[in-house]
Formats: sequence, C-alpha cells, structure tokens
Amino acid sequence: MAARQSSADKPSPDKKPSPKRPARKRGPARLPAATVEEIFRRFEARDPEPKGELEHTDPYTLLVAVVLSAQATDVGVNKATRKLFAEASTPEEMVALGEDRVREHIKTIGLFRNKAKNVIALSEKLIAEHGGAVPPSRAALELLPGVGRKTANVVMNTAFGEPTIAVDTHLFRVGNRTRLAPGKTPLAVELGLEKTVPARYRRHAHHWLILHGRYVCKARKPDCFRCLIADLCPFEPKTIAV
Ligand code: SF4
Repeated sequence: MAARQSSADKPSPDKKPSPKRPARKRGPARLPAATVEEIFRRFEARDPEPKGELEHTDPYTLLVAVVLSAQATDVGVNKATRKLFAEASTPEEMVALGEDRVREHIKTIGLFRNKAKNVIALSEKLIAEHGGAVPPSRAALELLPGVGRKTANVVMNTAFGEPTIAVDTHLFRVGNRTRLAPGKTPLAVELGLEKTVPARYRRHAHHWLILHGRYVCKARKPDCFRCLIADLCPFEPKTIAV
C-alpha cells in the first residue's frame, strides 16, 4: 500500500509557481549602498535645501499646522492657518481664542472637530508643562494630544534640525517602490531609511522623498518618464509619457 503523503511533502505553491501565474518580478530586497548614495546625490544636486510646504513661523505654529495636516492637504491647511495664526500664534493666545473659534477657522479641514480639541489641549499642556514652549524631544512631543510619531518627527526635523524621517503616505510608497526601505508599516520604512540613508543626507531625506512622492512618484501612476532616479529604481513597469 502506498504511504500517505504528509502535508509537509505536498508541493508548496510558493516553491513551484504555476505556469499560468508566474511569480511576480521583484527588484532587489534593498538597493546597493552605491545606488543609494547616487540617489541622494542627485536629490541634493537638484534641491540642496528642500523645504516642507506647511506655512509656519516657529516651532509652535509648525506643530499646530502638522497636527491639522492629518488627512488634509498642505494647501488646505495653509489656507486655514493664515487666518488662525493671525489671531493666535502662541499657546496662550490659542487657549484664549478658545475651541469654538479654532473650530470655526479650521472647519474646511477634515476631522476639524477633533483637531480643534487637540490644538487647545496641546496648547494647555505646553503652557502647564513646558513653559509655553515646544519641547525639542520626540518622546515629549508624543505625549501631547493629537501628536503621534509622524508629527513628532516632522517637528524634530523641521523645527529643531534633527535627522528624523517622518513616514507619511508618500514616503511609505516611495520607500517601497524604490526599495530604499521596503516595509509593511510606516515604522518599518522609517527604521529602514534610518539604516539605509547615508548620514550626510539624513537631515533632508524626509523632504526630498516626500516631495518626490507628492509630485513625481504619485500614488495612482508614477511619472517615471520624468523621474531623476528612474535608471536606479527597480520599480516595474515604468510609466512612459503619453
Ligand atoms: S522610477 Fe517611477 S517608481 Fe521609481 S521612483 Fe521614479 S517615479 Fe517612482
């Protein structure tokens, strides 16, 4: 009698892809160091001092703008904060303005009710625990209402010059498509980039990659035909100009 085939002996679909469904072509798990260096050399040559697009005048207005920017465009946030900051640009002024007026100013932005609450609560906490100043510490920032790791990283980078990398939806996509830092979660991509990006480029990597994702390596269809790193990027199929 023939021995029964154990499940361990059965052919694995992973090991033997069906001829009808060929295994998906993937690039290298990670890019070679020389390729990474060349990618950032090109970003730097084109834009040596990249800037974020949220309007602000100091760490506090930046913090508020970043808190407001979740699930909203920078253009929409800037439109709202121009009027808001004209009335209140410090924690004390924001608390005096009050939640109702803040809500009125930001009602064109998604999740505005919750964000108005958070702006007031974080302002109160800054006054109570930090003398009205924004603390230059990611851990302290993450304890503020409405502030997560991504927001804290943006503030640490832009306001305090730290080489932190805030992974938003654009950066997550670019990190995976380029295989600069493939990862299933924003944190995995962030930690991957911290390892991969050469130290001298780390301070600006955040803005280069976000702007690249927003304007070139776009979500639905990347503009590979006008991408300055197309010859270094393993993503396939590349798009062509129409
Ligand atoms: S080649 Fe295409 S997929 Fe790769 S980074 Fe450029 S735009 Fe994105």
